[in-house]
Amino acid sequence: MGKGYSGVPIPFPKLAKEALKDTQLRTNLNRATTTIRNKRARVVAEVQDWEALRQAGHDIKMAAMAELSTHLIRFEKEFTEAGGTVHWARDSKEACEIVTKIALDNTISEVVKVKSLTTDEISLNEHLAKYGISAKETDLAELIIQLADEHPSHILVPAIHKNRDQIRDLFVKEIPEASSSLTNSPTELAMTARTHLRKKFLSARMAVSGANFAIAESGTLCVVESEGNGRMCLTLPEILVSIIGIEKILPTWNDLEVFLQLLPRSATGERMNPYTSFWTGKCGDGPSERHVILLDNGRIQTLADTVGREALACIRCSACMNVCPVYERTGGHSYSSVYPGPIGAIITPQLLGPGQAKTLPFASTLCGACYDVCPVKINIPKILVHLRAKENRDNASVLEKLVMRIASKALGPQGLRYLSRFTSTFAPLIASASMQTIARHLPVLRKWSAFRNIPTPRLSGKHHR
Ligand code: SF4
Repeated sequence: MGKGYSGVPIPFPKLAKEALKDTQLRTNLNRATTTIRNKRARVVAEVQDWEALRQAGHDIKMAAMAELSTHLIRFEKEFTEAGGTVHWARDSKEACEIVTKIALDNTISEVVKVKSLTTDEISLNEHLAKYGISAKETDLAELIIQLADEHPSHILVPAIHKNRDQIRDLFVKEIPEASSSLTNSPTELAMTARTHLRKKFLSARMAVSGANFAIAESGTLCVVESEGNGRMCLTLPEILVSIIGIEKILPTWNDLEVFLQLLPRSATGERMNPYTSFWTGKCGDGPSERHVILLDNGRIQTLADTVGREALACIRCSACMNVCPVYERTGGHSYSSVYPGPIGAIITPQLLGPGQAKTLPFASTLCGACYDVCPVKINIPKILVHLRAKENRDNASVLEKLVMRIASKALGPQGLRYLSRFTSTFAPLIASASMQTIARHLPVLRKWSAFRNIPTPRLSGKHHR
């Protein structure tokens, strides 16, 4: 059973320090993110009105959030009239209990899952297991993570930190259908997973899914995916339960057009998604019972923050993590959240609330690469700075506040003049010793210089004025 991220998050610096020692991890991540990055850049360059599309995506999402309650009520009405059942969940506990009750009422002991980021957020697998219900992941990468009993480390490629040899060894060990002569060829690995999953699809009576979008005007849910496993989950079982964050709502079908152009290009560097599935309440074919759980779990409190709420526009494409220098070196597990990378750094602390995941907004260089690639123009650096300021205001110790006050004076115009005079006087002395050695012994610079080299300054001999 794959692990969720329940409990108090572990601070980023602690996990990142460990991850930085893992050179295999960095090699795997660098190779994977470079490939996706280049593919994305190629297909985005083909779209002449890309910037206008991004702006449209941003505007639609922000407008939808401004009228969120109206759209949600409309969605509920349409989905219910079409024969489906709508549930509302304030938090993870309530959402997990609703799914468990539906399963128990129907004597279900195994469910298949697809597109399940939101179910990871609420740690559904662990909750179901307490009631003897096993949840089987059907996405190839999610299956790998589940077999390895690990957390996902990327929102779109959960097993991005693993290479083909590692996956081959895992399959031979954990999948009964895998032969010991299995090679690391992607085709062989995919075929092994396919044989294994086919049995699950055919025997499962209940499926649990997420959704990428929910269209209010018709009460329709939409899942986009690339393997076809989603289509199997959404059509074969008798019961389908979908769990979506309330921010997934779009007012109309016309709005969807924009996102179906933005998402595949930003996510996997494809022009369109291989599989796009829609369902509205109870359809003529497919599951005879369809439920949707509309999940808050911190989204309403995020909405209340006029700067931070922009994070709710995220369409989970993962482009921001594929360009983030911090993510590429530390990996997704360092974020201790189902949402890693730049989006994780802004959404996790907001969903969890005050005092939680407070180191995450600092897990960024503020280089701005995430903002440049975000298909819905979320100004991630601005939100990071906003959350950092909030954290410093609310939770900094007296000493930290004092240091920040001194720093703001020192870095003001007057302070910089004094600093310049100090540097010109003492620079020859400093240069005579190794800067690296000095930095390693100074309390403030010790952490910073542990993984970085500081060049010794070359002095011109001129006096700075
Ligand atoms: S923040 Fe933007 S780039 Fe990052 S996952 Fe969300 S939509 Fe994609």
